[in-house]
Amino acid sequence: EGVGAGSGGTRFDLEKETELRFEVEAGEKVHLELLTGLAEVFGSELNRNKKYTFGPGSKIAVFTWQGCSVSLSGKTEVAYISKDTPMLLYLNAHTALEQMRRQAERDNERGPRVMVVGPTDVGKSTVCRLLLSYAVRLGRRPTLVELDVGQSGVRPTNLLIHNFLTSCLAEVFSLRCEENRKASVGGCIINTCGWVKGSGYQALVHCASAFQVDVVLVLDQERLYNELKRDLPHFVRVVLLPKSGGVVERSKDCRRVSRDEKIREYFYGFRSVSFFPHAFDVRFSDVRIYKIGAPSIPDSCLPLGMSQDDTQLKLVPVTPGRDLTHHVLSVSCADEGEEGAGGLRRGVLESPVCGFIVVTNVDTQAQVMTVLSPAPRPLPRHTLLIMDIRFIDLK
Ligand code: ATP
Repeated sequence: EGVGAGSGGTRFDLEKETELRFEVEAGEKVHLELLTGLAEVFGSELNRNKKYTFGPGSKIAVFTWQGCSVSLSGKTEVAYISKDTPMLLYLNAHTALEQMRRQAERDNERGPRVMVVGPTDVGKSTVCRLLLSYAVRLGRRPTLVELDVGQSGVRPTNLLIHNFLTSCLAEVFSLRCEENRKASVGGCIINTCGWVKGSGYQALVHCASAFQVDVVLVLDQERLYNELKRDLPHFVRVVLLPKSGGVVERSKDCRRVSRDEKIREYFYGFRSVSFFPHAFDVRFSDVRIYKIGAPSIPDSCLPLGMSQDDTQLKLVPVTPGRDLTHHVLSVSCADEGEEGAGGLRRGVLESPVCGFIVVTNVDTQAQVMTVLSPAPRPLPRHTLLIMDIRFIDLK
């Protein structure tokens, strides 16, 4: 372990069923090479004598079922071998899902729909990735349903819209399964948000019912496991799995930085791929900006016949002003002909977005705003949705 290896790297010899964990220092890169044996990173098999590069902040585990030696070069914050991993239990979960897929194939039914849940920093995304990789390696075509809006540190503040969109997604997935047998047999793996209390918990229960999940994998938290066993129908298999000791906690700051990084990548590209975004002016009169959800008011103050649901799903027009600066706006694909009599509202809520722009400047005098956009002018649509996320373009 940790002996100098050829090309300036450090060599690590791993026994079977152990993993090498490492973190890449900020502003650094680390190269990994498999020298002998077999190894995988979160379920993806490594090729022998190929250099894999991991960017700043990466937190990686190289696991081996059979034993292997690897070489690491570059600055790592930590690098150590652990013998204590829950990988065997994760593999068992995969094997059980694969059996369900075989049975689905035989009986002309649908494959397993799996929801992965747990508090923040327990390795939900990693388990999803692992289960997907193992299934794909067997020639399956499972679908990843990414509902972890908390990934970037954003809470789904508006539960109603969150649940509404989850239902839309479930419907689209079911339609796809009707058309595509491989997708139906492959089933889906749903990654969820680490917010597991109160409304967050309600969102999980809603998701389980919208997708009609067959299996729920609960990472780490016995309380959540018991609650779900109590609240979900008895035919849903709820399984408690331990978290890996390798999962690294991420602070609020760390999540904010990685969210900013994601937005930057959207506009400017990543690794060797560079994008060149456009900056141009948009006249206030050419767009309509909305916020989804009016501030909630006490039930007793609601106009007769109106419910909280109506306020939370309401499209509220936003008058452009200086406070729009730095806000990320989504460009809705809603059919603009449908405006009026509630048509636009439904269109906007159900429609995908065609992309995102950032307001970089607002000139209230001239009634224009300058935006950063991945595509050249003009904007493809004129219905814009504002959210709380801001991005300061320093480039
Ligand atoms: P969130 O709270 O954002 O939902 P999560 O529960 O989905 O987080 P992951 O994103 O899967 O957690 O894991 C957190 C970090 O830990 C990731 O950077 C991941 O690469 C790393 N990680 C996961 N498993 C291991 C391991 N065994 N060894 C080292 N690092 C790991």
